[in-house]
Amino acid sequence: MAEAEARQPGSIIRLLDESAIRLLFRLADQIVIMPKVSLTGIEYPQLRDLEDWGRAMKVLEKHGFVEKVVITRLIACPACGSANVATQYRCVKCDSYNLERTRIVQHLVCGYTDTQIKFKNDTCPKCGLKITNPEAELISLGVVYECLDCGSRTSRPKMVHRCMECDNIFTYREASYRPVYAFRVTEEGRRLVSKELVRDVVRKALETEGFTVEEDVTLPGMSGVSHKYTLVVRRDGSPVMAIDIIMGREAEVLDAMVKRMDLAPEIEYVIITDNRAAITRRIAGSSNIRVLDRRDVDKLIEELKNIVGGRSL
Ligand SMILES: [Zn+2]
Ligand SMILES: [Zn+2]
Ligand SMILES: [Zn+2]
Repeated sequence: MAEAEARQPGSIIRLLDESAIRLLFRLADQIVIMPKVSLTGIEYPQLRDLEDWGRAMKVLEKHGFVEKVVITRLIACPACGSANVATQYRCVKCDSYNLERTRIVQHLVCGYTDTQIKFKNDTCPKCGLKITNPEAELISLGVVYECLDCGSRTSRPKMVHRCMECDNIFTYREASYRPVYAFRVTEEGRRLVSKELVRDVVRKALETEGFTVEEDVTLPGMSGVSHKYTLVVRRDGSPVMAIDIIMGREAEVLDAMVKRMDLAPEIEYVIITDNRAAITRRIAGSSNIRVLDRRDVDKLIEELKNIVGGRSL
């Protein structure tokens, strides 16, 4: 019972506060919100202007409207948490960082084998011959790191991380290996935005302007047939605007055109949709239907206020 109640759109909306709703609108218009990873940390440029979005995101996630996806992981300092971390190679014997990346080479002429840095001034330390063309005269046997402090060589130096903020030095054993998330709206979240949330936001905005707004009500048409609308906006009891929120399927558009023809001309008829361009093309301006874009909710509210505001003058 409680389960079924929680699934009611109205009660879901009541679970979400102002910032969660704002965030959900923002997310619904993006396929995915990607982080920007830099030395200063993880940022979400598309959410930068939204206050408190971290908390709001948790609320949306908890209710299944948003899901997070791990897109990468970052090495972070276990002491201070900073991701401004550099990697260093160290000598496996003496722990010195003073290693030189070189190659083991063999002098083709005399067979002497050593690291290339030992062939000082391009001269073979054994036979004393000048190396004029290293590519041809020295056979490479692979890359090694040579410690300039103790002389030991390794093909696999010890790797350590250094925190550039607090100077802490740590290895993979101590490192905090943090996930970096991208966010995306779930199907359920998208559905909520395109119907119930828009309806709720529009209703509240128009009520603030002094209109009465009813949801899912019928108005009698001029033909005598009644039609059902998502929202009906009244001033002093008389309907001034009827609103439908539609996806833009063929049947919906046809239905909208019929409703417009039957609706008294002094009543505005507004369609709110994600597919404004397609619907506008379909009705080709032939009827006085206002088609508004759902996706920019602030602009949408502005336009609605202009339409009803213009009429009340
Ligand atoms: Zn640190
Ligand atoms: Zn030689
Ligand atoms: Zn060493």
